[in-house]
Amino acid sequence: MHTVIAIDGPSGAGKSTVAKLLSEKLGIEYIDTGAMYRAAALYLLGAGIDIHDSEALNAALGEMSIDFSDGRTMLNGEDISALIRTPEVTAFASESSALALVREKLVALQRRMGAEKSVVLDGRDIGTNVFPHTKFKYFLTASPEVRARRRADEMEERGEDPDFDEVLAAINKRDLSDMTRELNPLVQAADAVLIVTDDMSAEDAATLIASSVGDELAANVKY
Ligand code: C5P
Repeated sequence: MHTVIAIDGPSGAGKSTVAKLLSEKLGIEYIDTGAMYRAAALYLLGAGIDIHDSEALNAALGEMSIDFSDGRTMLNGEDISALIRTPEVTAFASESSALALVREKLVALQRRMGAEKSVVLDGRDIGTNVFPHTKFKYFLTASPEVRARRRADEMEERGEDPDFDEVLAAINKRDLSDMTRELNPLVQAADAVLIVTDDMSAEDAATLIASSVGDELAANVKY
């Protein structure tokens, strides 16, 4: 039997750091679904098609292949991990992830990845839509200010010079569009465990999840 762990929440809640640590603790694979939407956005920007032309969009998506290799995000065989973190791709990922054709393709891919092996996935709709039947659902969140501070710190680490108010405004805008879109909006699943990370380190959140997954698995062992 394999285990699927769903971690959802808004940007900057610490999902990817926690999911990565958790995957290391449990020795299972980590799937960053946000990176997949970002890769699709980069691909569509590069293809220069009108995303509202369904025929052109469908044809373009048919030529797009997204994968992970040693923790790197691959688009049609090329490592694009660094290219998908720019503000332009970030904003366009939020827009293009609202399109039905984009979601259909990536959700199908995520379900295939989780059907084969134990995985931890982070995103916006994993517990509500991609794997609604998994027992292991967590919703990570933090105040907008804390989330913006984390994003600004990440940007500084990459050598950028972010303006905090701009980062906060961009986060609020992106969350609003993720929460209000028609298809698979960002919402806490009724059966997800809420984890507020304002005053919690990623290590502590990963330990908390690992122990609750371990308890649940142990409780299900039949002697
Ligand atoms: O998590 P990250 O910020 O990398 O996600 C980029 C964008 O991808 C989000 O703003 C959201 O619009 C989209 N996304 C999504 N569903 C997911 C993961 C990400 O719509 N499961």
